[in-house]
Amino acid sequence: MKRFLLFVCMIIIITAGIPFLIVKSLSDYKRVEETEKISVYIKAEDKVCDMEVEQYIKEVTAAEMPADFELEALKAQAVAARTYLTNRVRVYEKTQTPEEHKGAMICTDSTHCKAWISEEKKKEQWGDDYKKNWDKISNAVDLTKNLIITYNSQPISAVFHSTSSGTTENAKDVWGGDVGYLVSVKSEGDLKSPKFNSDAEFSMEEFKKIAEEKIEGVNWDNGLIDNIIRSDAGGIKTLSVGGVSVKGSDFRFMYGLRSTNIEIEILGDSIKMYVKGYGHGVGMSQYGANYLAQEGKKFDEILKTYYSGVEIEKYNSIFE
Ligand SMILES: [Zn+2]
Repeated sequence: MKRFLLFVCMIIIITAGIPFLIVKSLSDYKRVEETEKISVYIKAEDKVCDMEVEQYIKEVTAAEMPADFELEALKAQAVAARTYLTNRVRVYEKTQTPEEHKGAMICTDSTHCKAWISEEKKKEQWGDDYKKNWDKISNAVDLTKNLIITYNSQPISAVFHSTSSGTTENAKDVWGGDVGYLVSVKSEGDLKSPKFNSDAEFSMEEFKKIAEEKIEGVNWDNGLIDNIIRSDAGGIKTLSVGGVSVKGSDFRFMYGLRSTNIEIEILGDSIKMYVKGYGHGVGMSQYGANYLAQEGKKFDEILKTYYSGVEIEKYNSIFE
């Protein structure tokens, strides 16, 4: 009897166990194939983590765009974020990762790479709206799975910003390098963005103090502000402050302004600055994308509006 039971057990193990192991190893294999991972440097925690690409894209989309934006705008944002990542990964595979990344392919510093927030943290912020919002963002990312923006068959540097001045900037006017797909286009929806207009006022004393601290060689005998040179879109490329030539982007950050599209008004003992738009103004405008989505445009049409001459393609792997 004992022998018989042992025999039955052996049969069960052989007939059920082996197929189970085969199926399990196959499904593990498939899972690895389906979910690529990338290393991410989480700046706030000063650590490098391996993350599944699509989950990372969801968390970037959640950090970069309000969940109440149109689905097609969220899809455009998801593709832009995935493209930005792919572009960085492929560049760093050939060169090396920047020092700021502590060895990772991408970082969570929005001023260096793209903003990111963990699903856990976003869940806390959203509270009762978590499920509705996360499902919407997840859906936007899933519906565009593996899609990236290409130019000459290469993933583009898919930069984006909150709100343009009504016209986006040429990359060459902002960063110096000529990029075929990052050229100035009209973005009329931005005029409706809640971030379109802003202003700042400084007393003359305050204005001069900041300039003296940040710009070497300032001499007020050489004038206050002059030689303002603007891009076609209206952003300040360079200007002279106290006789010293300064880049518009440096001036913007020095005075904590939202963009380089600045009108300066000198009011005797104070200076008022009126600013249009929010961000560097290059590539896709997020509010402009939402406006186009409200007008019935699909995500690929939105992307092709902001990135000139591009295609939307499916990749096989984020790595080359
Ligand atoms: Zn980075």
